Amino acid sequence: MERELEKAKRGLFRNISRKIDSQAVVDAMKRVPREEFVPPPTRHMAYLDIPLAIGEGQTISQPYIVAMITAALGLRGNEKVLEVGTGSGYQAAILSLLLPHGRIITVERIPSLADRARSLLRELGCANVEVKIAGTTLGWPEDGRYDAIVVSAAAPSLAGELVDQLAPGGRMVVPVGSLERQELVECHRTGEGLSLRMLGPCRFVPLLGPGAFPRPQN
Ligand code: SAH
Repeated sequence: MERELEKAKRGLFRNISRKIDSQAVVDAMKRVPREEFVPPPTRHMAYLDIPLAIGEGQTISQPYIVAMITAALGLRGNEKVLEVGTGSGYQAAILSLLLPHGRIITVERIPSLADRARSLLRELGCANVEVKIAGTTLGWPEDGRYDAIVVSAAAPSLAGELVDQLAPGGRMVVPVGSLERQELVECHRTGEGLSLRMLGPCRFVPLLGPGAFPRPQN
């Protein structure tokens, strides 16, 4: 890796480690080459703590936000996890390392992004990740219920379709709010129902389609 990039990477993870109290998550993130998930012209920016454009009007999320979401899931390593919004595949690659005995299903609505993510994840050896193209229902109900769900796009509400896909005891992290601004919500499915915790403000691209924001007309 180029010197400058390495320096930026060290700085980024120094900052993230100060704010995130999961060494396992920070270690997994350090092992994923974010520079491979961004378009080549922005490679030099791969370790800035910002989202970057990945084509089709979509973005790879900000590393600090990815760290916060992943840490909130409290994974043990053998869970079945759903990600909604594969994008570049970066979040899925991190989950892959944290789930050596688990399985990740990641769903994307834009086929070209799904294809690119699938081949990159295969190249990087993330054999426990399956990339699916979104169907008519939000999420991926075909594989039963999940121990954890990460929603990597902004939802207008705590989508009932996704809550239904959460196993008892499971956790979901989802940005909920308007198109411009959301709050990151951690949702824990307990015996009594759902318990919610607010993790902080964030800004994601919209979750589109049934159960989410209406799809653009063109
Ligand atoms: N986690 C990604 C960032 C994703 S950006 C990464 O690490 O790079 C959000 C993605 O959600 C976009 O690619 C967008 O196309 C996708 N998306 C939006 N609505 C969706 C839906 N209903 N189902 C699946 N994917 C969706």
